[in-house]
Amino acid sequence: MNEKMIDLGNNRSIIRELFEFSKKRKQEIGAQNVFDFSIGNPSIPPAEQVTKVLIELLNEEDPCSLHGYTSAQGDIEVRKEIAEDLNRRYQTTYSENEIYMTCGAAASLCIVFRALVDSVKDEILAIAPYFTEYKVFVESTGATLKVVSADTTTFDLNIKELEKNITPNTKGIIINSPNNPSGVIIPEKTLQSLAKLLNKKQKEYQHPIYIISDEPYREIVYDHRVVPHIPSIYTNTIICYSYSKSLSLPGERIGYILVPNTIPNHQEIYAACIGAGRAYGYVCAPSLFQKMIVKCASLTSDMTIYEQNRNLLYEGLTKLGYECVYPQGAFYLFVKSLEPDANRFMERAKSFNIILVPSDSFGVKGYVRIAYCVSKDTIIRSLPQFEKLMKSY
Ligand code: PLP
Repeated sequence: MNEKMIDLGNNRSIIRELFEFSKKRKQEIGAQNVFDFSIGNPSIPPAEQVTKVLIELLNEEDPCSLHGYTSAQGDIEVRKEIAEDLNRRYQTTYSENEIYMTCGAAASLCIVFRALVDSVKDEILAIAPYFTEYKVFVESTGATLKVVSADTTTFDLNIKELEKNITPNTKGIIINSPNNPSGVIIPEKTLQSLAKLLNKKQKEYQHPIYIISDEPYREIVYDHRVVPHIPSIYTNTIICYSYSKSLSLPGERIGYILVPNTIPNHQEIYAACIGAGRAYGYVCAPSLFQKMIVKCASLTSDMTIYEQNRNLLYEGLTKLGYECVYPQGAFYLFVKSLEPDANRFMERAKSFNIILVPSDSFGVKGYVRIAYCVSKDTIIRSLPQFEKLMKSY
């Protein structure tokens, strides 16, 4: 047996543990009495058009072709539609030959890491706080995930720290903006500084260093902000996208990889993605959902609901004295723990039936993540519990 896999299977992520704990607690004391902020499961329904198109497809399409195999990299129609949608938004010239359909961002990331890593010496950089599964995905290729801390006052990238950590073994750097768990959007100016640094290092080491941009929250942005299109700032950028959050479809497993035609060896990288998809058996993303995306690629769920939640919770918690960075996107609040050990704080919060995720697994200490993709009512009713939690210190 593979000991590493046994270990991964036996030790679920803390988020999953808390999610399971919360389900059990809800059975014991009633769902309305548990304030579960553990998991990033969208709380708003998909756009109406998504359901309508799915019903039409089920009623009108030939079932054998509807549920049949597609091309390994996805149907040409959906790849074309996604490329055109991106071109409309970013004034680019992408085509279907640069899009690979996947089962969500997790599969996109796994494929890209497998396509890029070719030596156990390879290093992929992530910026803390980071999505916990990056470590699992990168290490399963044999490479090392090297964690660099962000600027802890703003949670923006710390370019100086990054520079110190780039070595001749650096294959790529993962960027996640809007960020899970901080909610911060990396400003265009910072991305330009990052591009300058990476261009310098590419020249110095005479090999490409890729940005792997993990973008499941790209459309969940507030105060009219826009997430910069990183390939327009730094050429060697590969995008891992998912409809899990933007269309509220995490259980349906649908997303894509974009290998932009602006990367000099994009055809080779795209071929390596097809190869990695084949090696993992991640071919032919769900057919029904590929066909739905043809008609819904440019839609999103109603993000104003998350913005209302963000405002309510941010204002409520800061009024009570909690400290947190102002989230510009995604649906998470990253709040300073009321004691140095965030795990102990999480346990204390549990005794008030508030379920929070401690920050250690995101690569930083002393914070908790609140996933506010919950009902408005849950947020309103949770505030007195947060007040009691504060007073207990
Ligand atoms: N990347 C980030 C930053 C996430 O937060 C998540 C899920 O929560 C994923 C990737 C995985 O997304 P998917 O469900 O599309 O695989």
